[in-house]
Order: sequence, then C-alpha cells, then structure tokens
Amino acid sequence: MIVHAAGSGPTVAITANIHGDEATGVAVVQEVDRLLTDRQVRGMALLYPTLNPAGLTARTRVHPSGHDLNRLFPGVRKGSPSERHVHGIWEDLLARNVDLVVDLHADSGRSVPYAIVDRALSNGKGRGLAPRLEQLAAATGLIVLREYPEDQYLRYSLDRSLAGALVNRASVAAVTIEAGPRRWLDPNAVELAAGAVLRVLQHVGMVEGAPPAPVAFAPCGPWRREAAPRTRRTGLFREVVPPGGVFAKGDVLGRVVDLEGEEVDRLVAPRAGVVISWAETAWLAAGSAAGTIGVEDDRA
Ligand SMILES: [Zn+2]
Repeated sequence: MIVHAAGSGPTVAITANIHGDEATGVAVVQEVDRLLTDRQVRGMALLYPTLNPAGLTARTRVHPSGHDLNRLFPGVRKGSPSERHVHGIWEDLLARNVDLVVDLHADSGRSVPYAIVDRALSNGKGRGLAPRLEQLAAATGLIVLREYPEDQYLRYSLDRSLAGALVNRASVAAVTIEAGPRRWLDPNAVELAAGAVLRVLQHVGMVEGAPPAPVAFAPCGPWRREAAPRTRRTGLFREVVPPGGVFAKGDVLGRVVDLEGEEVDRLVAPRAGVVISWAETAWLAAGSAAGTIGVEDDRA
C-alpha cells in the first residue's frame, strides 16, 4: 500500500485488481500516485495496487481457490482461504475509517470508460446514500451507469462486491470505475481513468488541479447497466454501433455472421440507450451476450 497524507481531511482508499487479470487498475493506481504529488491539499489517500496478488501472478480473474473474490464480501474470519482473504481486506479498510473507496476494474479493449453506481438497497445500511453515490460517480466525468435493478443486483451477489458491501453493509460511499482492457495496458485508458480518480478526489476536497474531464461521451441518461442482446446463433460479431454510440429502440447494434460473412442474426436494441462495451472475443456462442449497454433508467 502507498500512503499520501496532507493533514486533516477525508480518508479515501483507491483499490485495484481484485480481479487478478485486470491489470489496467494497477497502472491507474501508479498513475494516481504520480498525479497526487503536488496536487494533494487535504486528507489521506490509501493506494492499493492489487487486492488479489495471487490472481495477478496467475493472470486469472479469480483467486487461486477458484472463487470470484468480488462476490464474497465481507468474507469470513475463519472461512475458506478466499473468504479469509476478503475478510482481511474488509477489516483493513474499516479499521482505517475510510470515508470513500474508489474501486478500479477493467471491461474490455472495446469499451468506453465508465463509472458504476451501486444500488443502495432499501433495507441496507446504506439506504439514503444514493444521491451521494450519484454525485461521486458524476464527478468522474465519465459515462455513469446505475447498477442492475435491485432483484438482479441481489441475484448476481453484487451486494457482496467490495463496493456493494461497503455501501450496503457499512454505509461507506464507494464508486467503481471500469476502464480499458483487462490483460494489457492501453496508455490512453490508464490516463483517462487516473484523471477520473483525481476528479473524484477533487470533488471531496482532497486535491486541486485535477485533469479536466474528457468531452461527454453521452450527454443523456441516467443509464442503467444491462447485458447487450444475446445472439441466437453462433458466429462472428460485427459491431454496427461503436462503444459510446447512442441508439434508439429498434436500432441494429451489431450483426452475427457465419464464416462466409452471411448474416445469421442481428442484435436489435430493446430500448433506447448507449453502447458501453463489446466483448473481448468476437466469436460468439449462441446464447451469449455481445457486451454491455446502458439503457434509460425508468426505475429512477
Ligand atoms: Zn473487475
């Protein structure tokens, strides 16, 4: 862990790489480390380059035990190796009285950077945090996606992700940033995400002179995270709307073609929204989602 301190003020943890194959966040933490020098005016920043060093070494999303650590929070003190590992992270962050956690993830090489707002569950400790979570995510200057609706959010155990558990079990604010490819570094994606983190730190009064936000990718919203349409046929995915592109209900987002280039399926927008990312593998099996989109959040 790297610590930057500048007297009284908020304590913010910037965490990366709980998914061990997501190398982008490690570089983002290092870039934030560099940017904080000369810009920090208050508070304490705790930088964690990796929360899953064994996964980083093995280049796997999961912990060597086979579990996705980001669905196990707050962990178990005397549980399995992965549960103990997660519990150690949890206890460490809470013992440091963090006011905010920025958790860094990566989506795909064919993605715009975006911020995720967790669901503040109606029966959780974080109920009432929603407006603050929205403000923090907006401060990134990136496209903001609200998480899946509450039923899906729970079904996917997202309340047991690091950010989800902090919000819903400890009433600690958290924002997730998804930036860039997983296994290799795109210098532009690293710079964009580091700038987004600095703008969040500026929003809470810790830094001055954060890099300006990029021009808005998608001016409307609010958007809610949704899986892109699933292909009904196996084939090669050819995008029609690029990441960052907005679309209307009924628009063709992409086509699935066979080896001769003949269209075997077309993916049609179920409603208006914005393309966030296309999958890292272009050969899609029947039934798989082609990527991630944001749709207009009618449950606001
Ligand atoms: Zn991740």
